[in-house]
Amino acid sequence: MVIGLGAMGSSTLRELAHRGVAALGIERFTPGHAHGSSHGGSRVVRCAYFEHPDYVPLLTRSIALWHRLESARGRRLLHRTGILLAGKPGSQVVRGSVSSARIHGLAHEVLNAQMVNERFPMFALPPMFEAMLEPETGYVRPEWAVEDSVADAREHGATVMDRTTVTAIHARSDGVTIETDRGEFIADRAVVTVGPWCERLVPWPKAPVCVSRQVIAWLDPEDPSACAEGVLPTFCIDAQEGFLYGCPIAVDQPAPAGMKVAWHIIGETVDPDGPIVPPIASEGESIAQAVARYIPGCRGRVTSMRTCLYSNSPDGHFLIGSWGDSGRVTAASGFSGHGFKFMPVLGEALADLAMKGSTRLPIGFLSPSRLG
Ligand SMILES: Cc1cc2nc3c(=O)[nH]c(=O)nc-3n(C[C@H](O)[C@H](O)[C@H](O)COP(=O)(O)OP(=O)(O)OC[C@H]3O[C@@H](n4cnc5c(N)ncnc54)[C@H](O)[C@@H]3O)c2cc1C
Repeated sequence: MVIGLGAMGSSTLRELAHRGVAALGIERFTPGHAHGSSHGGSRVVRCAYFEHPDYVPLLTRSIALWHRLESARGRRLLHRTGILLAGKPGSQVVRGSVSSARIHGLAHEVLNAQMVNERFPMFALPPMFEAMLEPETGYVRPEWAVEDSVADAREHGATVMDRTTVTAIHARSDGVTIETDRGEFIADRAVVTVGPWCERLVPWPKAPVCVSRQVIAWLDPEDPSACAEGVLPTFCIDAQEGFLYGCPIAVDQPAPAGMKVAWHIIGETVDPDGPIVPPIASEGESIAQAVARYIPGCRGRVTSMRTCLYSNSPDGHFLIGSWGDSGRVTAASGFSGHGFKFMPVLGEALADLAMKGSTRLPIGFLSPSRLG
């Protein structure tokens, strides 16, 4: 049984179905919805990981698996636009990415501000800024990825119950009882991937997850040609004001139209069941001002904004492991605003953990036991 069919759950369900397991997936809303962490049209996919080089082997596997999902459903998900990572002098975002790229032999180019501003004339990085270009990465479409994963899981024999909320999980030595608002189910094993709602069902007392509100904005650029895919790379800028990221405008972009940009910040703590305060004008204005300062060729007016939820672990690293004493429940949470790109590989890892209790994928560093 897989509980929660967002990014990680849909991928786990698909993997189990491909392995011939009679799996049931339960989802509170419908796949691809906009109430959790997996909506907004795009998610940055980086490989030279500044957060920790141990993520890189998982990412190289994940990128290969993104292609398998694309071929299975015939829909493009991963856009290889290249990623420009830029930052203030000494930026850990840039230096950590360069270090990860060197350790793992990933294609990359180290650039200074002048080189960036000449090569990508929409940018106006301050003279002392450092940068790195990662040519093989870009961004992925989150709603389509979840929808396609669930559809493929169904096609391979999985059963999906949507609009069903799990209210309690009781793990015993001989099975797992799952209570829902549509009755009770008995499963051999359960994988719990409920994102921002993990504290409701599978709290790890020593690894509490804090849910925060994030704001995403879409700008209507004065010069759309400067923001088009193929011209503008996906970008992350570790500026004095914060960590700004965004994606170019693609021809197949789902609504809303425009260039998507946001701050990657811890954010204000919220209850995932809301009410979540809608974005306010000043939040969009701060994003538009940062674009005007660092990427003036893409400046524009904010035309749409949305909120989304981060599930922050205490140290910003994912939490993946067994939950409770039975060994029958596996949980994954605390993706801290950077988990989506791992969706395919973590589906594989979670399916391994559910079926065998272990995985050959190098996820040991993500065990919640690291926190005590
Ligand atoms: C604004 C924003 C920008 C981001 N940018 C990036 C990025 O650029 N790159 C990147 O890699 N990552 C990014 N992330 C992070 C990434 O999107 C998340 O790490 C990822 O989506 C988490 O997936 P999840 O499966 O844990 O949660 P979700 O996808 O939210 O899935 C949880 C699912 O569980 C369901 N559920 C909850 N409770 C129950 C219940 N009781 N019963 C049944 N179902 C239930 C929910 O309805 C939901 O479908 C970003 C996140 C946000 C919010």
